[in-house]
Amino acid sequence: MQNKGAVFLDRDGVVNDNRKLVNKPEDLILYSWTAQAIRRLNDAHFPTFIVTNQGGIELGYFTSRDLENIHACLKQQLQTANAHIDDIVYCPHYHHPCECRKPKPGMLLHLAQKHQIDLKLSWMIGDREPDILAGASAGCHTIKLGEHDVIADYYCENLRQAVETILQSPLRLNDIKEY
Ligand SMILES: [Mg+2]
Ligand SMILES: [Zn+2]
Repeated sequence: MQNKGAVFLDRDGVVNDNRKLVNKPEDLILYSWTAQAIRRLNDAHFPTFIVTNQGGIELGYFTSRDLENIHACLKQQLQTANAHIDDIVYCPHYHHPCECRKPKPGMLLHLAQKHQIDLKLSWMIGDREPDILAGASAGCHTIKLGEHDVIADYYCENLRQAVETILQSPLRLNDIKEY
């Protein structure tokens, strides 16, 4: 039974400040509102995932081991604020043809299958066009942060506002049990 919606988050520029590249744990600076926004999703029983393009691995800027360390640091920081991410998936490719690099929806499709998520009841929040295209292509509702430079369902300033938009949505997605 797949009647559960989820929230997919892009990482850089959504969860953490992306003015500087994140190549090691010390580079990871969460926005001041991130932990609380994610906790709001946790409290509302929305499985919350991060789907992130990390082509820097293929390009040799950092290794998948480095990325695991960065994500361990991310989880740790959230944990101290009683918030959690249910799963993190990344695409390590850049030039290499793959099905996971956004704007392709591969990471969302993978998570939906793994966690029994209904994509039509789900949301993708991103700060760049490929995030919105991946979300739309997977059949999710989409929220674009920042400039209105791509067609999304909603536009918000930041993750905090995006989470409020989801929680106030008249669709009340996670309350729907049957159609
Ligand atoms: Mg981004
Ligand atoms: Zn990939």
